[in-house]
Parts: sequence; C-alpha cells; structure tokens
Amino acid sequence: MTPSDLDFDARHIWHPYTSMTQPLPVYPVASASGCELQLENGATLVDGMSSWWAAIHGYNHPQLNAAMKQQIDRMSHVMFGGITHQPAIDLCRRLVAMTPAPLECVFLADSGSVAVEVAMKMALQYWHARGETRQRFLTLRHGYHGDTFGAMSVCCPDNSMHSLWKGYLAENLFAPAPQVGFNDDWDERDIVPFARLFAAHRHDIAAVILEPIVQGAGGMRIYHPEWLRRIRRMCDREGILLIADEIATGFGRTGKLFACEHAGISADILCLGKALTGGAMTLSAALTTRQVAETISDGAAGCFMHGPTFMGNPLACAAANASLSLLESGAWQSQVQGIENQLEQALRPLTGMAEVADVRVLGAIGVVETRRRVNMAALQQFFVERGVWIRPFGRLIYLMPPYLITSSQLEKLTDALAAALQRPELFLDA
Ligand SMILES: *Cc1c(COP(=O)(O)O)cnc(C)c1O
Repeated sequence: MTPSDLDFDARHIWHPYTSMTQPLPVYPVASASGCELQLENGATLVDGMSSWWAAIHGYNHPQLNAAMKQQIDRMSHVMFGGITHQPAIDLCRRLVAMTPAPLECVFLADSGSVAVEVAMKMALQYWHARGETRQRFLTLRHGYHGDTFGAMSVCCPDNSMHSLWKGYLAENLFAPAPQVGFNDDWDERDIVPFARLFAAHRHDIAAVILEPIVQGAGGMRIYHPEWLRRIRRMCDREGILLIADEIATGFGRTGKLFACEHAGISADILCLGKALTGGAMTLSAALTTRQVAETISDGAAGCFMHGPTFMGNPLACAAANASLSLLESGAWQSQVQGIENQLEQALRPLTGMAEVADVRVLGAIGVVETRRRVNMAALQQFFVERGVWIRPFGRLIYLMPPYLITSSQLEKLTDALAAALQRPELFLDA
C-alpha cells in the first residue's frame, strides 16, 4: 500500500461514522489470523473487538475457510425465489433447533439492520392481518438497532440524532433505560416508567423491541434480567409482540447462547446477525413463531412482503453452518467463562481511578465507562503502539475479544486499557 492509496482512501472512501473533511486516521490491515490483526507495516495487534461482535472464532479459521472454499466450488450465490439449497436448509434447521421452541419460522436477510427491518415489518403485518391498526414500537433509551430508517426509529433518539430526521422518521415510544445493573438487587421502581408507557399505549403498540440484557452500541449497558421477565409478562397479557434484537448478544457472547436465557424468556421475533457467520460473511436472520408467521400469511397481502436479492446467500450460509458447528462443540462456554473471570480480575480494580465512572463485565464483554469523552484518534494510536486493537467511542472503552483469546493476549488488552486510563491527555475536557 502506497501513501497515495491512503490519500485516495481519505479523499474518496467513507468509513463508518466519519467525516469526509476531517477523516480519522485508518490503519491498513494486511491479514488477520487467530486473535491477531497484521498491519501492512508488519506490526501485529491483539484483537479486542472481534470486528464488532462478529469474529467469535477469531480470523482465518481453518474450518470456516474450508467450508467457504467448498461452497465456492459449488456456487457462491443463487437466487432464493423459487429455489432452495442445502446450506440454507441446514442453517435454518440448526437455528430452529438452538433457539427456544416457539421460534420456528426463519427469514434470512443480509445484515443486522435488515433483520430489524424485517422484524418490525413482521409485527406491522401481523396486526394488519388481525384487522387492528397498531403502528408503534415501544423500546428503551440507549438502545441500538441499526442504521436503516426503521431500525433508526427505535434507536436512542439522542445517540442517533433523531432531530436530523424529524418529520421523516417514524415516531416511536421510548422508556427510560434500565438503571438496575445485572448483579444489582432488583428495584421495582426501575420499571415503573416503562410500565406506565406500556399501559398508556397498549392499544397502539405493535411490538416492544429491545436488546436483551446488554444494550450495545447505545451505551454498553448491562441490565437486570427481571426487566425482561416483567416485559415478557406485560406483552403476554396484552398480546403485544416482543422482538429480541440479539444481533450483538447472540451466540455465546454474554455467557449464555442467547441473552434471553439469562431471564428464561423467549421472544416472538428474534433478530440474529453479526456472529451468525463467525464474522466471515454478512448474514442475518429473523425468526418468529408459527402463529405470527401464519397470521401474516393469511392476511390481505397473502405473503410476507420482503425478499432481498441476496437472501439465503449460500456462501454466507456455509460460513454460518461452520460457525455453528464450532459452537456446537461447546468449547465456547469455558472460553467465555475464562474471559469473564479474567476481565473481572483485571478491570474491576480500575473502578477507583480518576478517569473511571463505571466498570461492567458480563461473559466475554468488558466495559470501562470513563468520566470524560475519549480523544478517539489519540487513544487509538496509543493502543496501536501497544500492540492492541481496541476501538473506543464516546465515554466507552470496551473489550469483546474472540472466544479463543489466550490469557496472555487478554492481559495485553487489559494492561493497555489500564495504562490509557493513566494518561489524562487521551481524554477530552468536558
Ligand atoms: C450491529 C447491530 C445491528 C445492526 O447490524 P448491521 O449488520 O450493522 O446492520 C442491529 N442491532 C444490534 C443490537 C446491533 O448490535
């Protein structure tokens, strides 16, 4: 890669949430394997991000690679309208088997945001088919569900700047985010505002949509399972659908295969993505119950009104099947438990530091919330110089490494994080 390549990148290529006039630096990666990224300049970084929750088995995994290479030689893609294929059937059979019993009808889509669009559309079509106009979604502040318009309409209004889209974006209902943490004592008062909003709009709400247990990109908040049990009960009482967005939490990240298991509940619609393919390909799924699927199908449209061009992409399905096989071997459970123990030991003692507002750990997720906002470019460089890949944002420095990370690699990540907290110049003044 030449300096002119990087100039071209800065001048012509958008990166996630960046400016075209003041782009943040980008680091050229040449390859990745196991739990490490290799930079073009020869440096090796321990990966603390799993490429945003996705690469749970690390990079360049031989089983994922072999499955994809085999599939390429058969067909990389074929349309899904009027056609089916073994990789999709195998994958959907697995998804039906591994998710809670009532979820048995699978819609394959191409990214997390699209799975959320699909889930919301399912809820709207469900009520339409029942002859009721219900077009509002109730959700939690600090949530994140993706960047397309439907998904954005249920993202935290502050974080995703709803003011920019006023008049265009659907107006949904936002309850205050849970305050009672995962390990705190349950406090009945925490859910009162949600219960009031729910009761006041119970005839307009099509579905409650939330990220179970861990609110990811909207604040890395980890909340009490009783929240989910209460919401499940409220929804059951009114026949309102519950959409669980497990795009970030699914496939073992929180210590359970799915975060809903912490509360022993199941959703009416479940969104999966990110780690579905072990981070190798883009693929997502929205699963629902037979009752919801059949109600939609018997409605005025006579079908579910969605069908992406790359629906059920065989190559992505092959990667997902290989990733799920690795999960089925069960090693993830002790790996995630080991990561949780080590994160507790390494991050919990940082609680008293001047820059630290809170420390949160669950499964293979470790979060340090800082008092001041991070200087992203400076902190990123600090981490790269220490041989780790950690991507902070706002007031959050967090780790969610691949499950196969070794304890010495994880120590490198937590040491770098702790060192950064001793550098006031890496934070912005309030
Ligand atoms: C990342 C994410 C999405 C969006 O997925 P994309 O693949 O980026 O479209 C939706 N919901 C949650 C909880 C996520 O973490």
